[in-house]
Amino acid sequence: MASPPTTILSELGFRFDPNNLYQQVATQVLRSAELLEVPRFLQLILAQPKNELMVHFPVRMDDGGYRLFKGYRVQHNNLLGPYKGGIRYHPSVSLDDVKSLSLLMTMKCALVRLPLGGGKGGVQVDPRKLSKDELMRLTRRFTSALGDNIGPDYDIPAPDVGTNAEIMGWMADTFINITGRAHRNQATAVVTGKPLAFGGSAGREKATGQGLVFVLEVLLPALHIDPAKMSYSVVGFGNVGSWTARLLKQRGSRLRAVIDHTGAIINEDGIDADSLAEHVRETGGVRGYPNATAIDADMFYKTRVDVMIPAALEQMIDEHVAAKIDCKVLAEGANAPCTPEADRVLEQRGVQVLPAILCNAGGVTVSYFEWQQNRQAERWSEAHVDEELRRLMHAAADRVTELAKRMGCDMRTAAYCSALGHLDEVYKIRGVFP
Ligand code: GLU
Repeated sequence: MASPPTTILSELGFRFDPNNLYQQVATQVLRSAELLEVPRFLQLILAQPKNELMVHFPVRMDDGGYRLFKGYRVQHNNLLGPYKGGIRYHPSVSLDDVKSLSLLMTMKCALVRLPLGGGKGGVQVDPRKLSKDELMRLTRRFTSALGDNIGPDYDIPAPDVGTNAEIMGWMADTFINITGRAHRNQATAVVTGKPLAFGGSAGREKATGQGLVFVLEVLLPALHIDPAKMSYSVVGFGNVGSWTARLLKQRGSRLRAVIDHTGAIINEDGIDADSLAEHVRETGGVRGYPNATAIDADMFYKTRVDVMIPAALEQMIDEHVAAKIDCKVLAEGANAPCTPEADRVLEQRGVQVLPAILCNAGGVTVSYFEWQQNRQAERWSEAHVDEELRRLMHAAADRVTELAKRMGCDMRTAAYCSALGHLDEVYKIRGVFP
């Protein structure tokens, strides 16, 4: 049975719903805050986002008709710097999802000590069902609906599930066109994850996967796993899953099984991540990949591996899936892939969970580098980006390990506590206005 939410959530009027993602994530964060004994005012501030923006906007479709879309931007916290976080295009995007992801962004940026706050946005749409022109019109109209609720000093969007560099390019161009002349020079920095030729950063596309690989290189040896010899499986083969697998291939790790929205595949001798990524680009999913055997979801989760990497959507791993999983380490590439019930089952079964706010912080970290480059009219080499990313990811991983040891807690709690400790320190200095 799920336990009731912390008193703060009930005081704020939440009606307890154990399946609600926002309540799950906020409860984990608030429990960590209680454990760390951070002041009550900080717990209250973090329990709700600062701003929740919802917009409805019409888009002309290719057939000449119009559709009305619903878009969100949630700005959770800007104590450390401008709100920062991705824009998701997915049919199931909801306010609760976006709120949860914005809270996780606040935690992620604080954990890595980036001078950025947390935000998230999205549009309820299946981008696969839109033509390129429709996608462009939707993106431009959404950006203009957000208007000056985003900006290079205020709130900086980036790619997330269902969005990419091309879409970020359209967002930045639209913002530049609607912003005043005086600010145009700085306006490219309004969005990160842009195409390289238009202010994007070297290494941004692979950044989340690269960051995860840097975290694994610090944490796995202590868990007696050698990345060069390990076997692993991946849930989801989009940006995060495919880049992680392609980079792990260079280290010699063996990709044993993959599952995505089209099916599951296995090859005991290893799946070539580059050729699978090519297959997914051409066909839209892993199903039908010729150099592997098709299996069902049940077999996928029961496949023995050293490391499992969920890199798809939230809440994919519930207590039933957790009971089947046969791995030593679960490294969260996706945001909030495990339900709290799954966490409990995994802990009982001795699976070490490496939390999302650490494992997938590489994306926003290179977004920060892109923002810095835009503002200073600089261009960093990929080698420099990777070196800086490695430094920040290693520091964050060390921080979490040390705190987990010191507090005698799990890695998720330690990651939240490290982020909360930093926010607490800055609130102590700045105070609460007025
Ligand atoms: N959407 C990514 C995340 O969840 C990246 C956010 C960013 O680069 O701002 O971390």
